[in-house]
Amino acid sequence: MSFSKLGLADPIVKAVAELGYDTPTEIQQQAIPIILSGKDLMAAAQTGTGKTASFVLPLLEKLNTDGELRGRSIRALILAPTRELAVQVENNIVDYAKHLNLSSLVVYGGTDLEPQKQRLLQGVDLLVATPGRLLDLAYQRALFFEDLEFLVLDEADRMLDMGFVDEINKIIDRLPVKRQSLLFSATLTDDVRYLADTVSHNAVEISVSPQNKAAPKIHQWLVTVDKDTKSALLSHLINEQHWDQALIFVEKKHSAAKLVEQLGKRDILADSIHSGRSQAMREQVLSDFKSGKLKYLIATGIAARGIDIDNLSRVVNYDLPYPAEEYIHRIGRTGRAGASGEAISLVSKDDFKNLCAIESLLGHIIQRIEIEGFPVKKTVPISILNYQPKNKR
Ligand code: AMP
Repeated sequence: MSFSKLGLADPIVKAVAELGYDTPTEIQQQAIPIILSGKDLMAAAQTGTGKTASFVLPLLEKLNTDGELRGRSIRALILAPTRELAVQVENNIVDYAKHLNLSSLVVYGGTDLEPQKQRLLQGVDLLVATPGRLLDLAYQRALFFEDLEFLVLDEADRMLDMGFVDEINKIIDRLPVKRQSLLFSATLTDDVRYLADTVSHNAVEISVSPQNKAAPKIHQWLVTVDKDTKSALLSHLINEQHWDQALIFVEKKHSAAKLVEQLGKRDILADSIHSGRSQAMREQVLSDFKSGKLKYLIATGIAARGIDIDNLSRVVNYDLPYPAEEYIHRIGRTGRAGASGEAISLVSKDDFKNLCAIESLLGHIIQRIEIEGFPVKKTVPISILNYQPKNKR
């Protein structure tokens, strides 16, 4: 299977070839023909599967028609939960549209509105936006939706988790009824399906399984540890195993700052991104991590959403995530597009329920590795693989 066989024009095929993509991924093979046919789509696919190209490429194909772009108008709107993901999607659009004459723009909160308003005066073909900022711009009449042909909700489950449902509904109310709508989500929960029903019309449902994608390339292992020796164990692993790089997830923003300090005391330089830091700081830290200047990045799950780093060799769950699906999201940051990676979790007794939920979702037990010098006082039992969390959404 090649990209040209999917019905994409030469300039698009050329752009992806220049990026080194030989073969469409599973989600691309499934989604591109459906989108080109004009149908609405609801897709279960997580980051790392090539989902961005699966909607951007056919949108470029469809938008690549002659015609005047009216001032303040947009033709395709892509909503994303976080600024990091929005920026990443727009970067991909720029790469994929390199040989086309289409315009794109990304807008998100926490930055000056004026330059975005100025840029919108000419209209844009593809606008990537976080929901709150899009509404601000709409309220200020900086853009109008009459010419809108396509709507994409990217990482819809995460948008709901972050409480964007009202914003999304307000946006949808403003859009033309006649449009093509696409929804992507790591998991199709009842809430996501409800949202898909509101947004789309007779959507075709497709799904690529994250487990099958993740398993062969990512070496997953865990260490059981007492809570009070967690940071010592992490420092030990970084030093003893000579980790070149690690994206380390914590649950709360205050734990991120604390861990940076604890590692610092052991001469390990780390930095953090979380919602308590300014946009400028987050961008700086992220760019240092991407360039390799910063080797260890501590992040809360939400702040790390949308981080796209090629060849990220390692992710660490310093805290195990809840819900279990988040584990799949996290480990999807490594072992991308054929590269190998490892996902390490530090698990203490309090995490037992989360571990059961994660291993039940994976359908297997994660390999346990014992580290010399770190005996565990509070043992973590072996999971029951048919565990169902009580307060499942
Ligand atoms: P995504 O799931 O959209 O975040 O994409 C994950 C990564 O896979 C990104 O770094 C893309 O550049 C890359 N990618 C997407 N499609 C392909 C493909 N067909 N072949 C190789 N790499 C790809």
